[in-house]
Amino acid sequence: MTNKLVICGHGMVAQRLLEQLCAQPSMPYSRVVVLSGEPSPAYNRILLSSMLAGDAGESSLTLQGEDWFQRNGIERRQGDPVVRIDRDAQQVVTASGHSEHYDHLVIATGSRSASLGLPGEDLKGVVGFRDLRDTRTLIDLSQRYRRAVVVGGGFLGLEAAEGLRCRGMAVTVLHRGSHLLNRQLDKVGGNLLKEALIERGLTVRTSTSPMALLGNQQLRAVQLADETLISTDLVVIAAGITPNAEIGREAGLDCDRGILVNNRLQTSDPKIFALGECCQLGRETFGLVEPGYEQAAVLAEVLCQTNTTAQYQPSVIATRLKISGIPIFSSGQTEPDEHTESVVWQDYETNRYCRLMIRDQKLTGAVLFGETSDGPWYHERIRLADDITEYRASLAFGKDYCNAAA
Ligand SMILES: Cc1cc2nc3c(=O)[nH]c(=O)nc-3n(C[C@H](O)[C@H](O)[C@H](O)COP(=O)(O)OP(=O)(O)OC[C@H]3O[C@@H](n4cnc5c(N)ncnc54)[C@H](O)[C@@H]3O)c2cc1C
Repeated sequence: MTNKLVICGHGMVAQRLLEQLCAQPSMPYSRVVVLSGEPSPAYNRILLSSMLAGDAGESSLTLQGEDWFQRNGIERRQGDPVVRIDRDAQQVVTASGHSEHYDHLVIATGSRSASLGLPGEDLKGVVGFRDLRDTRTLIDLSQRYRRAVVVGGGFLGLEAAEGLRCRGMAVTVLHRGSHLLNRQLDKVGGNLLKEALIERGLTVRTSTSPMALLGNQQLRAVQLADETLISTDLVVIAAGITPNAEIGREAGLDCDRGILVNNRLQTSDPKIFALGECCQLGRETFGLVEPGYEQAAVLAEVLCQTNTTAQYQPSVIATRLKISGIPIFSSGQTEPDEHTESVVWQDYETNRYCRLMIRDQKLTGAVLFGETSDGPWYHERIRLADDITEYRASLAFGKDYCNAAA
């Protein structure tokens, strides 16, 4: 009798899970089948920003070549998304009508650009920024049109804006928050970033959001809350993500924003697991690849029963902006509160800025702009909750000074 594992979705986290499964000392499955909604096998989605900016070619996105899948006996079915999970029959059904029985099922369907819920979102010229197809479309449109509006001043929106600017477009960024990257940067850092982007030629409007996208079939303009009209040929929607949880929800799995899992990545059905951006643990959903990779390592041990106590515990994740020439690093807390003290260091000449947040002699957050080489060291202090008393006076000057003072 075959023991079959079916994985629904072949993105970065599903691929990492496959690699972790192959690395386990024993594999309990005689067949592993991956069902992908996209026409190509998993690729490095993170590099789409570099591809849009013209800094990376499509071939550099490849994660594993054809021979890797053959060597490891992994079966793939591409460009045919799963549309239904039949839990009673333990099978999934794809858009083309193909059905696949499973003994264990893993849902790794990621997420999509969140809709703005505005009139005009279905016009030609309104694009998300999520996958290879979106990126090819954006590159194509950048060669045909001159003006673009990006909705969202988070990492994704800014990387899209900078990519389109590099391709010669006049780009306006609309951001609802009072400063850019408001989840990763404090106000000073966000404003330094805004100045740097304006200097490069981007138009940035904060504390504003679109009310409607206007046009007749083809997008022509964006209307703001104060009635301002911005003429444009392209709108990129990059204002958050929505977990692709529908197939789990429709199959009756417990869901909130994402598919609910426990610390062993198990859903409310013991035969079904979920990980990556489609899942939710407690109140937390995930928007970066690192938590997904940590989940993949745990799930491989759970599925192969190589570690009966393996559990996924969310950890502090550091983030970096991938815009060349504007180094930004942030980890942990980004704005001080009534319990934290701040150490702030700024060099107005070189445009470097650093804010470190401390609570009970422990580092709880780091925001770095302009010079970020000590970022990983600060991140490690935050993660390990080290006592910083001995080198607190040198903290703002980085690792070497702190090590000398300790
Ligand atoms: C442009 C861009 C830049 C990014 N930069 C960074 C970065 O710098 N750092 C960082 O940490 N993260 C970054 N991210 C986020 C990162 O890519 C994601 O965290 C990561 O890809 C999540 O992996 P996942 O496998 O959960 O989902 P995904 O990689 O999205 O994969 C999910 C896959 O499942 C498929 N799918 C969906 N529904 C179905 C279905 N019903 N049946 C079959 N298949 C289905 C999807 O088409 C997709 O191929 C970036 C994302 C983008 C778009």
